[in-house]
Amino acid sequence: MSQAILTASGLNRIFKVRHKGKMQDLHAVSGLDLSLEPGRTLGIVGESGCGKTTLNRMLLLLDQPTSGEVRFKDKLPADMTHAERAEFRRAVQPVFQNPFSSLDPRMRVGKIIAEPLSSLADLSRDDIDNRVAEVLEAVGLRAEDARRFPNEFSGGQRQRIAIARAIASRPSILMLDEPVSSQDISIRAQILNILKDLQDEYGLGCIFISHDLATVRFMAHDVIVMYLGRVIERGTAQAICSQPSHPYTKALLAAALPPDPDAPAPDVPPRGEIPSPLDPPSGCPYHTRCPLKMDVCVRERPGMLASPHGGVAACHLLDPGYAP
Ligand code: SF4
Repeated sequence: MSQAILTASGLNRIFKVRHKGKMQDLHAVSGLDLSLEPGRTLGIVGESGCGKTTLNRMLLLLDQPTSGEVRFKDKLPADMTHAERAEFRRAVQPVFQNPFSSLDPRMRVGKIIAEPLSSLADLSRDDIDNRVAEVLEAVGLRAEDARRFPNEFSGGQRQRIAIARAIASRPSILMLDEPVSSQDISIRAQILNILKDLQDEYGLGCIFISHDLATVRFMAHDVIVMYLGRVIERGTAQAICSQPSHPYTKALLAAALPPDPDAPAPDVPPRGEIPSPLDPPSGCPYHTRCPLKMDVCVRERPGMLASPHGGVAACHLLDPGYAP
């Protein structure tokens, strides 16, 4: 197994927020571990508010964990030299959900794509122009598009421009935060296919964040499922999507992939609202929505237990003492 290029261990992020007139702790991410190897995609799935975006910001070193650590090539951010930080900025490139806000409308596309190259001192003007043309073509646009402005492109094309910018500096990791959820269904498949091709061609490691388990199944090798800031299931994408163990993962899967495409989406969980992270449930954080809840679920938080698919999940039902 190749060595991980990005790892997080024991990651916690607590925000202080005012709630009902007093300051309270909001646990956005709790006790999270992950590792990403070159050429692999790690999918991070969960509903809005589960901590995915906070996690993404910490992995991009845009936010500091309250405790725990992120390492890039086994190096802590605090121990990085100026040059190593610059290397991190080149090597780890984000693609965000909304290409309308992530591309400066006053800049020509060529300049937008060339931006991450500005710190690479060994590139001449010609090198940069050639690189811009190369990545535009890699995402299915034309080299001449470099002279146009973002507002001359459709939403799907703008997301391709954002991806071209992300790969221009030849990164080793793409951090994809809901990269297709603002696109029409017909455009999503095109962008996902482009991302897959680029991953194969450039050997990229990818973190793919999404609320939609169907797109994660298509993109990812490994998956972690988050709920209220915690990982509640992890395993290979293939195993999690064919044999999910946690009731929440089953619900996400049922919602993403209704068995009969002509039938209405099944009325399965996730039922009701996600609880407030300011007032998380006792015991299993999913017990307020879980159709399989037992008495113990209200009292005790389940630990990570081995699941039949070879991964792990946080559910008492995996404990032989409680299994049906
Ligand atoms: Fe449902 Fe209990 Fe499992 Fe939580 S621990 S997911 S409440 S069965």
